[in-house]
Amino acid sequence: MIRIEDIINKVLENHPKANIDLIRKAYFFSALHHRGQKRASGEPYLIHPLAVADILADMRLDEISVATGLLHDVVEDTLVDLETLRQTFGDEIANLVDGLTKIAHISNLPKEEQQAENLRKMVLAMITDARVVLIKLADRLHNMRTIEYLKPEKRKRISQETLDIYAPIAHRLGMGKIRGELEDLAFKNLHPEEYEKLAAEVEIRRPELEKRLEKITATIRENLEKNQVPYVEVQGRVKRLYSLWKKLKKRKITINEVYDLIAARIITPNDKSLCYSALGVVHSIWIPVPERFKDWIASPRENLYQSLHTSVIGEGGQAFEIQIRTEEMHHVAEEGVAAHWKYKENKLGKNDEDKGLEKLKTIVSRLLLPLVEEAKNIKDPNDFLESLKLDLYPKDVYAFTPKGKIISLPRGATAIDFAYAIHSEIGDTCIGAKINGRMVPIRTEIQNGDVVEIITSPTAHPSSDWLNYVKTAKARNRIRHWVAAQQRAEAIEIGRKMLSSEIEKFDLSPKKILSDEENLKRIVGEYGLGRIEDLFAYVGYGKILPRGFMAKYLGSEEFARRDPEKKKESAIQSGIKAVKRFIGLVEDAILVKGVDNLLVSRARCCNPVFREEIVGYVSNGRGIIVHSKKCKNLISLMANKERIIEVEWAKDAKIPAQSVKITVETENRTGILAEITGAIADIKTSILDARARVSKDNRGLIEVTVEVFDKDHLDRVISAIERIPGVFEVRRII
Ligand code: MN
Repeated sequence: MIRIEDIINKVLENHPKANIDLIRKAYFFSALHHRGQKRASGEPYLIHPLAVADILADMRLDEISVATGLLHDVVEDTLVDLETLRQTFGDEIANLVDGLTKIAHISNLPKEEQQAENLRKMVLAMITDARVVLIKLADRLHNMRTIEYLKPEKRKRISQETLDIYAPIAHRLGMGKIRGELEDLAFKNLHPEEYEKLAAEVEIRRPELEKRLEKITATIRENLEKNQVPYVEVQGRVKRLYSLWKKLKKRKITINEVYDLIAARIITPNDKSLCYSALGVVHSIWIPVPERFKDWIASPRENLYQSLHTSVIGEGGQAFEIQIRTEEMHHVAEEGVAAHWKYKENKLGKNDEDKGLEKLKTIVSRLLLPLVEEAKNIKDPNDFLESLKLDLYPKDVYAFTPKGKIISLPRGATAIDFAYAIHSEIGDTCIGAKINGRMVPIRTEIQNGDVVEIITSPTAHPSSDWLNYVKTAKARNRIRHWVAAQQRAEAIEIGRKMLSSEIEKFDLSPKKILSDEENLKRIVGEYGLGRIEDLFAYVGYGKILPRGFMAKYLGSEEFARRDPEKKKESAIQSGIKAVKRFIGLVEDAILVKGVDNLLVSRARCCNPVFREEIVGYVSNGRGIIVHSKKCKNLISLMANKERIIEVEWAKDAKIPAQSVKITVETENRTGILAEITGAIADIKTSILDARARVSKDNRGLIEVTVEVFDKDHLDRVISAIERIPGVFEVRRII
């Protein structure tokens, strides 16, 4: 078991003035409250907070972080509440522990959503204190190291989450060592068989690989010495299993085809010019592969990673990678931003701990800022989880603006994402793109190294179907925002039309009433709304019925006196009248401009085709649903007559081709299915599906799904089938 004194000594090494009493106090507090508790392994629970504190001390974090490591589970797993912790250890530690404590179990939430909520809570806590994420990583690392004691199902879930969320966070923070260990542990538990198989394959090759590595590192040392370039260490390593496995899967290659199965690393004293000297030596021994050289020293990665990478062709033509960096850079590469903080702090002077901490906070939050922004804006926890995953995967596509600015995007991102990455305004008004000088559609995927020029138009707007083509949270959020605003504008417009036609039924003037601000404002107040526009929007969304509005406008007496429904002779007759009204051209009809977007959608039951006669039904909150006038459900919908509304297809509607199912009853003879599909194909119509069976009374029953553009087209298909000899009946399925 790790001893608290060992942890204290580690902290003192890095922070000589640390408040050691705080750590001791946290240790006793944790031991007291976790007493009697056991881990799944059967060991005392205290082992876990001690191990976490030890990892944090290794990360060179301060005494507050280490004390929090000791206390991180007391609120979640013991009877201690946050207030007690606050009184005993102060705000700083209490806030850190709070950020690390899962939200209270909400039993009616699905697991996935709880996980998303917990992650969101953690990400938000990082805004106030970046140490939350470092402590969480230490916690996860120890849990992964001891995961073997859990049940397989739980092991898999935790491992998947580690791969999805925590390893990528470690990666983004430049913590190479922790990331590697988390990934290999997760891989082992998630795919035990593949892990064992790959491990065995590497084991078989290990003696040979190590012999090669030894030869390479010896050659490097020898040549460095010969050229009097000082070095601290020359290391050789075999690629880690998870990253190897990922590469094999992604490239669909075998282990024999992996060129960087081994790699060498030169660590020089803390003077970056020595790195370039060492590079010169290396390139004098072996021939470099030109496009593989990368200078991360001159332009460090965002997470402050610095190193020279070069691949050279070794003996027998086998290429391998060499990384060259100073001792300081090496620590940053292994330990991540925390190590960087430590180094900077040394340079600032030992008294400047606070400044060092500020520095750490800014670096961590800059690296994780996209996640934080995400967490603030997204309401649906599942959406949050999705975009968290998306944003965490290495942003490995780099493209350029025409002026040479680098834009990094997730793989699969399109020109739309690129436009939004430059500026929201550019995204909102983009109409096209030139990639490497060629005009392309804006949904074109960006490839590494593309030079992308976005073409905008001041009158252009985002479109809801862009949501299918974007990968970045920024683009998605902006487009959603625009769609919502657009939807509201449409609802206001529709609401106004619905009210106009209702007012006409009362033989009153829509123009007069809809500009009668005084009374409208009164009604707005009665509905508890803010503005007159809200009232129209609510009518448009179907949340307020036009009849209800009229009752409020006229008052009950006047409403009863003028009520057009009362004047009607009978319900049946008024039904007939209503139907008649649909058939005639109605001036106030709401034009259906294109379905399946915003506020007008096509009913699933009858799936009306373009240009067939239709009726609108004002649903509750989901806008207007368009039914075919032949829809069977219309009879029952007529019971809510006040929700029926006139609609017609706009002449310039852009309705995409849609699939329609048709049944054909035929005599039972061979070849008839072929004749039917042939007839459909003859009129240039796509067949999506066709199946035939025989009924009990020996008739052929054929079901065909075709793609049609409008009513005419559908009629042509039906009459083409009807003309085939042996066809008894053709019906469209509604
Ligand atoms: Mn824990």
